[in-house]
Amino acid sequence: MDIDDTPVLDNHLHLDPVNGRNVAAAEEFASQGGTHLLVLNKPSWHLVEKGTDEAIFREVFDLTVEAAAAATEVLDGRAWPVLGVHPALISKLVDGGYTPPEARDIMQAGLDVAAEYVDNSDALAMKSGRPHYDVDDAVWEASNEVMCHGFERAADVGCAIQLHTEGGEDFEAVARWAEDRGLDRTQVVKHYSGGQLHGPVKSVLADKDELEIAVETDEPFLMETDYIDDPDRPGAVLGPKTVPRRVRWLLENGHEDAVRTAHVETPKAVYGIDTEATLER
Ligand SMILES: [Zn+2]
Repeated sequence: MDIDDTPVLDNHLHLDPVNGRNVAAAEEFASQGGTHLLVLNKPSWHLVEKGTDEAIFREVFDLTVEAAAAATEVLDGRAWPVLGVHPALISKLVDGGYTPPEARDIMQAGLDVAAEYVDNSDALAMKSGRPHYDVDDAVWEASNEVMCHGFERAADVGCAIQLHTEGGEDFEAVARWAEDRGLDRTQVVKHYSGGQLHGPVKSVLADKDELEIAVETDEPFLMETDYIDDPDRPGAVLGPKTVPRRVRWLLENGHEDAVRTAHVETPKAVYGIDTEATLER
């Protein structure tokens, strides 16, 4: 099997139509055999300066919807927007003078807006999580409440949710929190995951060592770069060519089944998307 015989999905990448390379990054992905993208909104830090009106979340989300539409034009498959609130926003808000419960309410309102976009079919899925760095108890508690609100809203509108969290392999408790709120753990995706994970579905950073672990573990998984499209931080993350390159490498090493798992079966199971039917070369 050749890379031209399979869809190739990057499960988590950012495109920035204002300051970044935007469509050029999607073209680079396509030039290496990439076909499908999940485009995540950039963090809404400027919320802190501009106020916390939910209109500002809409502004950020609309840019991402636009970026995904523009990327679709240059792909043989297509792109879908994934919208939500970056968990580190809580620290920006608390540093800006909000209490943790106030920050929680603002972020939950942002997730409500994201759910509305999904409900209107303007976005595919949601994104939430909790800080990946140490925070005090009040901020941690508020962050978990934000994430659980995300689970509730994702269950309401019937979509999957990507999580940005601390590192580690044991997220069994988080998967249970989702299930307690009516969201199946197969609709919870840990972004920036290693090859081994308990609880949610893993979206494995396209690193050879981690991918080998994922292949050996033989469970559902996705692949991602977390490309940030930030001209001020070139090389800060994997570039948009990385997922197609790793797919080629997996195929060369005889891992056809793993490629099918990550680019056809898991996307279908998690998001209900058909990467084969939406592919026209
Ligand atoms: Zn990201």
